[in-house]
Amino acid sequence: MEPANISKKITPSLTLAIDGKAKALKAEGKDVCSFGAGEPDMDTPDHIKLAAAQALAEGFTKYTPTSGIPELRQAIAEKIKTENGVDYKPGQVVVSCGAKHSCYNTILATCNPGDEVIIPAPYWVSYAEMAKVAGAEPYIVPTEESNGFKLTPAQLQEAISPSSKLLILNSPNNPTGSIYTENELAALVEVALEDDLYIMSDEVYEKMAYDGAKHFSIASISKQVYEHTITVNGFSKAYAMTGWRLGYTAAPEPLAKTIDSIQSHCTSNPTSFAQKGAVAALKESQDCVNEMVKEFAARRDLIYQGLSSIPGITVNKPAGAFYILPNISSFGMTSTQFCEALLEEALVAAVPGIAFGNDKLIRLSYACSRENIEKGISRIKDFCAKHQK
Ligand SMILES: *Cc1c(COP(=O)(O)O)cnc(C)c1O
Repeated sequence: MEPANISKKITPSLTLAIDGKAKALKAEGKDVCSFGAGEPDMDTPDHIKLAAAQALAEGFTKYTPTSGIPELRQAIAEKIKTENGVDYKPGQVVVSCGAKHSCYNTILATCNPGDEVIIPAPYWVSYAEMAKVAGAEPYIVPTEESNGFKLTPAQLQEAISPSSKLLILNSPNNPTGSIYTENELAALVEVALEDDLYIMSDEVYEKMAYDGAKHFSIASISKQVYEHTITVNGFSKAYAMTGWRLGYTAAPEPLAKTIDSIQSHCTSNPTSFAQKGAVAALKESQDCVNEMVKEFAARRDLIYQGLSSIPGITVNKPAGAFYILPNISSFGMTSTQFCEALLEEALVAAVPGIAFGNDKLIRLSYACSRENIEKGISRIKDFCAKHQK
């Protein structure tokens, strides 16, 4: 007997693997500076925890409707209307077990086997693997560091084939930290719509935009764009709720129905009492978000200054999210070799860029303390001095 062919096609998440190795070293008592994390280091705000705890205590422990409780879908629709300027009825919102689940549902609902999913690189690790699991084919389009790693309309045009079905855009971007402007998105979408592509807009980092940079929701561009767009968002990043597993799609009605049907047979509803926490997250004060974003902005300045002062490294200043992508190609190592040596010799954990489709880069997450950043930068500096070509 043999496991399915998919077992040869997909690779486990490299970000989680490095994180695991760093945690194992830490457990051995080693003083590891970890920049591997893909999650805020802050705790979930108390008022959110309290709302979920209360729901649990009150016995809110049964199945809910597949797409989530009406109260939450309503709150999400209102949030998108006021913050993103897009009109969705609560019935067009499907709450899932994390935005990752929402992305997977979206690919299943839009792509037939063999259809191509256009993914600009560097990309979030899971998009390409998800496409394969869904039977679709990832089509990776490399972007240029000199252009802030943003896909251009010409690059998109070039990538489109008769098999293209879905374009994935993620702004603010993991891992590049880039934020597309309204004009840049409009130009890309124009190309995508000429060929009748669906667009998945992953907006999980919308709150993490610095120096006045503005997140812009693709679905707000026009009615026609709205009809082609699936907006993905969640609670993990904005409210430090990664372990709660709550995300959502907002989509044109037929797609929302399809997503609901798919989910009804796979996972059913996301956790009942967690949904009550999410309602509190959206409805109560957003001060907690603003505070977190302020802290991330300060850390970004710190890590950017530190990395740009290291000879041999070039680096773009991220406009959003909480990652930074130094270019380490001058050291004559692959990104994996660099990260392995960095962890072994300097006890610094980072993620090889090859995991995101670019072997010249490594990814550092600055979802960690300022002390960790300072200590890590000093270790990276020594490591780079030792390995300079
Ligand atoms: C973290 C992340 C997600 C998924 O978050 P969930 O924890 O599944 O809600 C989706 N897209 C990107 C780009 C991410 O970085």
